[in-house]
Amino acid sequence: MAVVRERRQLNLRLPLPSEHRSRFPPPLPPSAPAPAAPSSTAISAADLEKLQVLGHGNGGTVYKVRHKQTSAVYALKVVHGDSDPAVRRQILREASILRRTDSPHVIKCHGVFDLPGGDIAFCMQYMDMGTLETLLRNGVVFTESLLSKLCRQILTGLEYLHSHKIIHRDLKPSNILVDQKMEIKISDFGVSKILQRTLDPCNSYVGTCAYMSPERFDPDSFGSKSYDVYAGDIWSLGLTLLELYVGHFPYLAPGQRPDWATLMCAICFGEPPALPEGTSGDFRSFVECCLQKDSSKRWSATQLLAHPFVSGVDLQPSA
Ligand code: ATP
Ligand code: MG
Repeated sequence: MAVVRERRQLNLRLPLPSEHRSRFPPPLPPSAPAPAAPSSTAISAADLEKLQVLGHGNGGTVYKVRHKQTSAVYALKVVHGDSDPAVRRQILREASILRRTDSPHVIKCHGVFDLPGGDIAFCMQYMDMGTLETLLRNGVVFTESLLSKLCRQILTGLEYLHSHKIIHRDLKPSNILVDQKMEIKISDFGVSKILQRTLDPCNSYVGTCAYMSPERFDPDSFGSKSYDVYAGDIWSLGLTLLELYVGHFPYLAPGQRPDWATLMCAICFGEPPALPEGTSGDFRSFVECCLQKDSSKRWSATQLLAHPFVSGVDLQPSA
């Protein structure tokens, strides 16, 4: 339990005036594409039977559910309701992002429902091994070879999102879902947003600050007007890989309790963390390409897919 509590501490949020609302981006401008219309096979809340709680996040609870007619199993994320119609609209906008994504490495959303009492539920693809954080907590050893396979999939998902002008903004081990075949899907777009030309670069303070890049902490010092807004996700990917390899959040010693100020100073003023001796040159170089403090020097998802650490990885299941 101590370990669980410790890791939970990493879900630090910046001290915003209305913290729970900060998880959702401002409403998209009217030009944003409309959410996909439900198909004729759309699932409704009444079709679903709760089986068990899968986990709790900052914004709500995730249940394993079964579709009564088809017996198909899904994950139902129930986000606690907010009576403010503007916030509800923002949540539904998030749903529209999820419903329009179609990548083998981004979680699928099968439906979004308004529940009695004001909660909103997202019916998502169920991933039977939980998250990379769960695996790490359960003692799975992430070797370089395993990480290169996982990393290629994460990059494929990120490349898809970035090419569709979606920034994830909360990439971390607990937002990367896994199944028995070690196939991964990026999840939790609670703080993502679709970029519109009319919006400023995404330098607002949202997301899980432990995995935030220097330019998101301090856009004045580390960003420029034209800084690459997608590069923040690449920074988070670098930290995620490092954490999985060393077994603890890389900016802190195992067991150290983080606080916002310590993290901010370490990320903005310290040297980026690096892999220990004994790791391969390719792995070290890959992490370095992700953890460049200057966002303009950070590689993009497309460039990283050609990096030797992941370029040779075959994602096809062996016959
Ligand atoms: P945060 O609120 O910062 O995202 P979190 O990622 O831990 O924190 P949730 O996204 O709400 O919280 O997820 C809670 C837990 O539910 C996850 O850690 C995971 O174990 C489980 N979970 C979420 N989505 C799925 C899914 N699609 N399939 C299986 N398990 C899931
Ligand atoms: Mg999550």
